[in-house]
Amino acid sequence: MTLRPKPPQHLFIPGPTDVRPEVLEAQTAPMIGHRTAEFEALFAKCEEQLQSLFFTDSRVYILASSGSGLQEAAIRNAVGGRVINFIAGAFGKRWHQVSAGCGKEAIPVNIEWNTAVKPEQVAAALEEALKDGPVDAITVVHNETSTGVTSPVGEIAETVRAISPETLVLVDAVSSFSGVKIPVDEWGLDLCLTASQKALAVPPGLAFCAVSDRLLARAESVEGRGWYFDFLNLEKYLQRSTTPATPALSLIRALSVQLDIIFEEGPENRFARHQRLAERTRQWATDNGFALMAEEGYRSPTVTHVANSRNIDILALNAFLGERGMTISNGYGEFKGKSMRIAHMGEVNDEDMERLFAAMEAYLA
Ligand code: PLP
Repeated sequence: MTLRPKPPQHLFIPGPTDVRPEVLEAQTAPMIGHRTAEFEALFAKCEEQLQSLFFTDSRVYILASSGSGLQEAAIRNAVGGRVINFIAGAFGKRWHQVSAGCGKEAIPVNIEWNTAVKPEQVAAALEEALKDGPVDAITVVHNETSTGVTSPVGEIAETVRAISPETLVLVDAVSSFSGVKIPVDEWGLDLCLTASQKALAVPPGLAFCAVSDRLLARAESVEGRGWYFDFLNLEKYLQRSTTPATPALSLIRALSVQLDIIFEEGPENRFARHQRLAERTRQWATDNGFALMAEEGYRSPTVTHVANSRNIDILALNAFLGERGMTISNGYGEFKGKSMRIAHMGEVNDEDMERLFAAMEAYLA
């Protein structure tokens, strides 16, 4: 593939991210029927590439949904009885609301925002909950987009397995997948979900989850799985490289082109680029008098949470950046005005970051 020059990055927000022109254009191809060999070949190709990016030999379901839909799918398929939701930010909280909304016995465990969920905290909460009976699953967000913190989900899975082997480990990697290596099989994650609009740099509307054999076996005994997100039904169709319902064909075409771009760059190079841009962003922030909000040692490779230590007007900064065709994110919820989030995920490169930093310095001056 010959890549066309990438237009400069416009969005430095944690999703949606900028999408390459080739990927946008892929969506303009004519429709084809989804019960055709042509579609099944396209689907099978994406499936294989996604399995490789999730580092899994099991399966990846591809759905027309945003990430939240797969938080719901995870609960509906994996949890018959009780689930523990670890909450260290807005998206951990959402998964708890989803769990309760699905009518499950959902046990929230609140962790201080801007810190990671630690294996010791998971062990303590799990041991406590087990006193009252089995725990079907735990949920944890790998990269809390609201705080810019990454939790050690591999160590967490190992801890859970040691204490309660039948408890499934469900992981949200919406804002980290493809920006950092998540070896799903090696880490023993039973489910790892993500969405198209973040580090994958595909337009919003697709969501993906790697699912273990253990989880699929569990689903057989869970009632109320619904239909659209029923993994057993999705599995049946996946065997034929297709989906039960009409797939988002144009988005899958876009996905296919973007996956080729990702493999052309090379996943390891992509992970290294995200790490390098994260380190540069942290350095820029501290060099310019801003503290970092996220706990040291757990800072995200895809989004940096910067304290508003200089008490600047973040809305005015964003307006200034907007005139130069760029935008960053304000702090989330209660952090609005108190912090800002600079995302460095997707197709963003070193020059893009330097252009952003130069503009921010011009504003500060
Ligand atoms: N989980 C995380 C970590 C997120 O960052 C987001 C969205 O930003 C979601 C879940 C929800 O995803 P969606 O907006 O695609 O439903």
